[in-house]
Amino acid sequence: MPLLPRRYERLQAVLNRRMGDLTVVLEQVDKPHNLSAILRTCDAVGAMEAHVVSLPGRPRTFNKTAKGSQKWVPLLPHPSIEACLTGLKERGFRLYGTHLGVNAIDYRQCDFTGPTAFLLGAEKWGLSEEATALVDQPIFIPMTGMVQSLNVSVAAATLLFEALRQRELAGLIPSQGEGVPGGEPEYRRILFEWAYPQVAEWCRRTGRAYPALTEEGEIAEELPRTLKLRY
Ligand code: SAM
Repeated sequence: MPLLPRRYERLQAVLNRRMGDLTVVLEQVDKPHNLSAILRTCDAVGAMEAHVVSLPGRPRTFNKTAKGSQKWVPLLPHPSIEACLTGLKERGFRLYGTHLGVNAIDYRQCDFTGPTAFLLGAEKWGLSEEATALVDQPIFIPMTGMVQSLNVSVAAATLLFEALRQRELAGLIPSQGEGVPGGEPEYRRILFEWAYPQVAEWCRRTGRAYPALTEEGEIAEELPRTLKLRY
């Protein structure tokens, strides 16, 4: 079945607004419903990707809460929190660690309009000492109830939507795909993979370049018949 033009327009509209400079780092956040909810929020605000450091042997699984968000927001695994955070720092990200310690400041005092990564910790233990030592700014979300902490996905949503609000106010939301790191080639790659995941997988397996797309999003070359049927 061919890709409907409306669907292709929607994919473009979403990718046009994606922000490569807004992300989350999940340290040992392993519960499927939390991972799923966080990715769904990343998709909603326009974050391009999320990062995770898991305990060895812990599979990363999603449940219905994700609503397929993992297809639109890749969750990138890292071997250690140090490797992950060092890599993000090298890319210019400011690391905001959600930490309930004494030197943490109210998140509403922060400027999240620059490259921003929110570090979120394990459901039981919070962020590790190693992660805490590497953050640029510890932050917290003020709470006035009896319970001491929020669910991690709720904390992630609060912070991501605050970053989105600040960027909207500052007129910094991309509108033409300029938020996609890597420019036009990367934009084209992601759009193709979103539009034709099975063809993309076949191209990668067989070592072919992705075919060009027409203005309407149709594949501009002949493909094997069996493959064409599996868009
Ligand atoms: N006992 C843990 C601690 O002291 O950090 C509680 C972990 S909490 C259930 C899981 C994660 O949610 C935290 O690591 C943090 O990332 C986030 N979180 C929860 N409440 C928060 C708050 N008030 N401000 C910022 N982040 C919060």
